Amino acid sequence: MPRIVIAPCRAMADYLEAVKRSGGEPFELDYHRDDPASVVESADGLLLTGGGDVNPELYGEAPHPTFHASEEGRDEYEIALIRAAADRPLPIFAICRGMQVLNVALGGTLIQDIPSMVNGAAHHSVPEPRYHIAHEVWVSKGSLLATLMAEKIDGDTCQVNSRHHQAVKDVAPGWEITGTAPDGVIEAIEQSGKPFRIAVQWHPENFWRTGEFRPLFEAFVEAARHRKAVR
Ligand code: MN
Repeated sequence: MPRIVIAPCRAMADYLEAVKRSGGEPFELDYHRDDPASVVESADGLLLTGGGDVNPELYGEAPHPTFHASEEGRDEYEIALIRAAADRPLPIFAICRGMQVLNVALGGTLIQDIPSMVNGAAHHSVPEPRYHIAHEVWVSKGSLLATLMAEKIDGDTCQVNSRHHQAVKDVAPGWEITGTAPDGVIEAIEQSGKPFRIAVQWHPENFWRTGEFRPLFEAFVEAARHRKAVR
């Protein structure tokens, strides 16, 4: 089975379940133990998970009053991991904070607080139940996201959950926007030219029981299987 390495996270259960059900072998990273360079050598796929805010000093801004730091050392660890993985043919699936830290690691910036910085913002913080539909995402035609979700979405509209107060602002070079909420908040980005590079702002892992986003996990694990075969 392809080895899916998963960034440290406080709510790991649904990520593990989603990966296992798609045929991947999950491996939880420990940033005190697993050196980023060695991790990307032995991994078949990298899954970046949810969590607190990325330190805005890492993209040249002072923290907004709502700043809620992640675990000590997590920003630096994940950024090292992402930069080590970026130029390799390693599939990357980034979720929520994972999308934000990926964007920062590769040169992008973030909106630090959606409620106070986005006019007419939708409710992006709907904590419970975790699979509650919070808003729509408009998916870009021709994107990998649209292709994979074709059977599951209605036209170009996807229904998602939402538990974030930050979002991508300036997109990292080489990545493009493939999903947007009706209020303009960026909800998905992807990179072409590498096997499976998708980042989403919602939490597809919370739907493992009902399968709304199973095509994303299955395509990610399939890309990892191919990586394992050629490695
Ligand atoms: Mn949202």
